[in-house]
Amino acid sequence: RSVLVKPRRIYQPPNLLFSLEFEDLTDNKAVMEEKDIFISIASHEIRTPLSVIKAYGQILERELNNAKPIVKRAVLKINEQINFMSSLITALLDTSKITTGKLILEPEVFNLCSLIAEQVESFNLTQTSHQVHLPKEADLMVYADKVRTGSVITNLLSNAVKYSPNSHDVNINIEATADHRAKVSVQDFGIGIPVHEQAKLFQRFGRTDLVKQKRIPGTGLGLHLAAEIVKLQGGEIGFTSAESEGSTFYFSLPLYERPDE
Ligand code: ADP
Repeated sequence: RSVLVKPRRIYQPPNLLFSLEFEDLTDNKAVMEEKDIFISIASHEIRTPLSVIKAYGQILERELNNAKPIVKRAVLKINEQINFMSSLITALLDTSKITTGKLILEPEVFNLCSLIAEQVESFNLTQTSHQVHLPKEADLMVYADKVRTGSVITNLLSNAVKYSPNSHDVNINIEATADHRAKVSVQDFGIGIPVHEQAKLFQRFGRTDLVKQKRIPGTGLGLHLAAEIVKLQGGEIGFTSAESEGSTFYFSLPLYERPDE
């Protein structure tokens, strides 16, 4: 595919005969798609050498026992950055798949509450200082892509923890709404989001000034992806937040209605 530029013949004074003027017929959508195809190809190309570097990095890490402290630190830092780059590449590929309509969802019927309970359990095990509180388990069945929905929950949970350095509680709420949706909320008591920066969070690379200043690691792609995945499945996503007090992010998915037998 290429951007369409149509040459147009225009009248000129006799001694110049004619000249060509280019009429740019590019619409924004075509440029965006072109950009996404480029991102997708570039990400694929980077992924292959990156996985080779990652494998060698892991070999080095296993051989660190007798290494000097500076070498240990350097290898661990390199591996940390390689992991960050791989998650960035995966997220970039996913965003370009969404914009070009190539993200394939594999929906199934599952209990959203059980999925959240499983994720919270593994989260509580891996997060040493934060505690995620989950309400008593209920049964809310949805018809959605389980893996992708799981990644939305992980994103909201890990943000709640990451952006709450001085508070250790994260509350989850799950409810059925009057309009037949399962609504999940993740509440934290962390740094919050200033009102003037709230609009950009679901955009690609939308990060607040404070987290950039503090160099809190992140790609700025997680919420964008989460929003697209939720919307593609007929759901809604949003948040309320107050600076220095905390945030509540929520998303909803249509409840699965069993067809009449
Ligand atoms: P990342 O966390 O990788 O930067 P996200 O897309 O998940 O990317 O989030 C985008 C931005 O939204 C974050 O960089 C941060 O500025 C803000 N943000 C997200 N969740 C929270 C939260 N729970 N509390 C405060 N800020 C948040």
